[in-house]
Amino acid sequence: MAQSVSSSHQPAIRLIDQFGRRLTYLRVSLTDVCNLRCIYCMPEDMTFRPRHELMSDDEIITIVRMMAGLGINKVRLTGGEPTVRPHVVEIVRQIAHIPGIRDLAMTTNAILLPQLAEPLARAGLNRVNISLDTLNPKKFRFITRWGDLDKVWAGIEAAEAAGLKPLKINAVVTRGFNDDEVVDLARLTLDRDWDIRFIELMPFGSEADFAQTAVVRSQETRERIEAVLGPMQPVPGHDPRDPARPYRLAGARGTIGFISSISEPFCGSCNRLRLTADGKLRLCLLRDGEFDILTPLRAGVPIEEIQEAIVDAAYHKPWGHGLPDGLVPQSRLMNQIGG
Ligand code: SAM
Repeated sequence: MAQSVSSSHQPAIRLIDQFGRRLTYLRVSLTDVCNLRCIYCMPEDMTFRPRHELMSDDEIITIVRMMAGLGINKVRLTGGEPTVRPHVVEIVRQIAHIPGIRDLAMTTNAILLPQLAEPLARAGLNRVNISLDTLNPKKFRFITRWGDLDKVWAGIEAAEAAGLKPLKINAVVTRGFNDDEVVDLARLTLDRDWDIRFIELMPFGSEADFAQTAVVRSQETRERIEAVLGPMQPVPGHDPRDPARPYRLAGARGTIGFISSISEPFCGSCNRLRLTADGKLRLCLLRDGEFDILTPLRAGVPIEEIQEAIVDAAYHKPWGHGLPDGLVPQSRLMNQIGG
């Protein structure tokens, strides 16, 4: 039975780290399981955590409520693949009703959106980020190991029909796999009001060597796009906490952004915490330090006590990642953190 958490409508922001960053955004991994096996994300024979190690539905809601009581106002559901989590619509409905949560989004590969976009939108999901690295069906199958690109297009259409907007498309640029497609992906913004974001490949654990050899820096991606499609201009009114500064090609409906975690880290404006599917608070995507929330919750430690410990843990959020010093996160792959 979940403990009850009280939180007033606009809780004060209590998650402020030692550098004065206000942490108002929580990314919640619903599961480490995925229905694809992207080559840069996890091995094909990935072993997933047993069910009992993952947060139950009630535990997810209790922890998000606890975090909302500390000032979290934006939640993104991710994974693994969040849509494969049983009861995902009910989880969305309950999070959407938590006082203080003003923005509820999801990152997904879109494969299951044809059946889920409408119920998710009705349950209170505001928008989705969809991962799409290539427009070529054969390459898509290769990169994802068994994915069907037609299903992603159907998922994108379903998301738009359900009003899950603005639609953001995330493409991880990987040398030798899709770096020759960045122009075609960018061209999509000419007649669609999508935000296409090119992400630099990051190294994690056993997949780190691949990431280090295949990373393509944003500057190169940008130059490739501008060489064919012309210069892009910065879009005014950008939220400085958003890692992707948006640009627009002349006459384009949509925007183009670059998430340059490697070449231009945006740690100074980071407002994020991550909750892994096994109930650990991860303070930085690219550092292994975590704070266990699920164990004390299961042990019946009072919510207020756990909240105080979270405030303390968040205070110690590291300034930034250690990749320039050769510190590669080892404890988890991206699907186990929640990308
Ligand atoms: N399954 C969902 C999806 O495909 O969007 C959500 C989880 S997935 C781990 C979230 C995002 O992380 C995806 O856009 C994926 O491409 C990205 N990603 C995975 N491994 C990555 C890596 N090593 N570096 C950069 N991005 C990565």
